[in-house]
Amino acid sequence: MVWVHHMKNGTFSETFIPEGAPSNASFSTITIGGGAQWIDAYNLANQHGQLVVGGISEGGTVGAAGGWLAGGGHGVLSPRHGVDNVLEFKVVIADGSLVTANAHENSDLFWALRGGGGATYAIVISVTYKTYPSFGLGLAMFQANFTSPDVAQKLVAATVRSIRNFADAGWGGYLYILQSAVAGIWVAPNTSQSDTEAAFTPYASYLYNVTGGQGGALYNSTSSFYEWFYGSFILTSGQAGSSQVGGNVYIASRLLSREINPDDAAKAILSVPTTVGLNVVGGGAVNRIDPSSTGLNPSWRHALAEAYVTESWDDGSNVTVIQQAADNLKKSTDILEGVATDSGSYLNEGSLFERNFKNAFYGAHYSSLRAIKQKYDPNSLFVVPTGVASDEWDRDLTCRVG
Ligand SMILES: Cc1cc2nc3c(=O)[nH]c(=O)nc-3n(C[C@H](O)[C@H](O)[C@H](O)COP(=O)(O)OP(=O)(O)OC[C@H]3O[C@@H](n4cnc5c(N)ncnc54)[C@H](O)[C@@H]3O)c2cc1C
Repeated sequence: MVWVHHMKNGTFSETFIPEGAPSNASFSTITIGGGAQWIDAYNLANQHGQLVVGGISEGGTVGAAGGWLAGGGHGVLSPRHGVDNVLEFKVVIADGSLVTANAHENSDLFWALRGGGGATYAIVISVTYKTYPSFGLGLAMFQANFTSPDVAQKLVAATVRSIRNFADAGWGGYLYILQSAVAGIWVAPNTSQSDTEAAFTPYASYLYNVTGGQGGALYNSTSSFYEWFYGSFILTSGQAGSSQVGGNVYIASRLLSREINPDDAAKAILSVPTTVGLNVVGGGAVNRIDPSSTGLNPSWRHALAEAYVTESWDDGSNVTVIQQAADNLKKSTDILEGVATDSGSYLNEGSLFERNFKNAFYGAHYSSLRAIKQKYDPNSLFVVPTGVASDEWDRDLTCRVG
């Protein structure tokens, strides 16, 4: 175990040139330490009027250079600016040397570090992200309640159908299919409140009409991603009702492909006996990249959203309760297969119980990732559950079996 939390240094540059790159390849960037969290990265970028594409959590505590990035890290701005914003890593590899990985030096390692999984190839000491000038956001919050299965099917199919257009226009969103409602928030980058409302009204009107007046939307705007993030996830952190972190939870996911039929997807989602979340963090710029350009699961390159389910239990629960949660999760995962075209799952929000973790989390990139691991970590110093080459170890990852 390596404690990285104190590596929190960060710098901003308007003229960052990756090592080995031509001198005219200059970028606006932040470089942050391997233990920095998103709140640190957002604060730094915001101080310079910039934004950086990152994750969202209460308190901003998700690591900005660690597992989030290594697993392919998404955010609500990914449809707009993609998931490919890293220019350079400094890492310590298994033999103890400090190396640079970017498009010009150790480019195979650079490829694997972007999506091939955390704690597998090296320890990340720092990472340099491209930044973008900050812009305002339009926000659309919606909810529609249903009681009949027929209305539910129509609502969820319409919601899935709407995702493609919004995501390809650069909007990100967090949507929920509950037992008796669909609800969520859309974030529209660089869009005014009135333009957001104009774009969203056809869908909102459909919600209203199909539910007989039980659905609709509210609109708002904010001057920057930072303002929205700070107000929604930092100021409220620790308050009653905000409990995003610190619980006991299993999660499983499937990537909702742009090729899926919305009616089939709705049927699958509605047959899951618990809430299904849809993180609309695909589509748009995420899909406009050659799947072979990074180690990220190629499923992402045709995914519009990540559909996920969770199972939780109280502190102190006995093993039967926890086993039941695992069994429920496996059943829901099987049903969610109906929204994926290739069983692709998001590694960072994935299940420990995947039947074929190699395909689910790495897809066709698994064998290349395995070869890169062999090159940089030939003795498998780094081993994590469901990581590349983890199947060569026993269940506890203490004895080699392969
Ligand atoms: C509340 C919450 C909100 C979330 N929101 C999002 C979101 O908006 N978008 C999203 O994509 N994901 C999100 N996630 C999922 C998140 O990406 C994963 O939990 C991810 O593993 C977190 O990485 P970490 O470094 O913070 O965690 P850790 O548990 O510390 O690390 C995860 C893995 O990465 C390794 N690692 C960590 N640091 C380093 C390093 N410096 N070098 C090498 N390996 C390292 C660890 O050893 C471990 O194997 C969220 C998770 C939670 C709990």
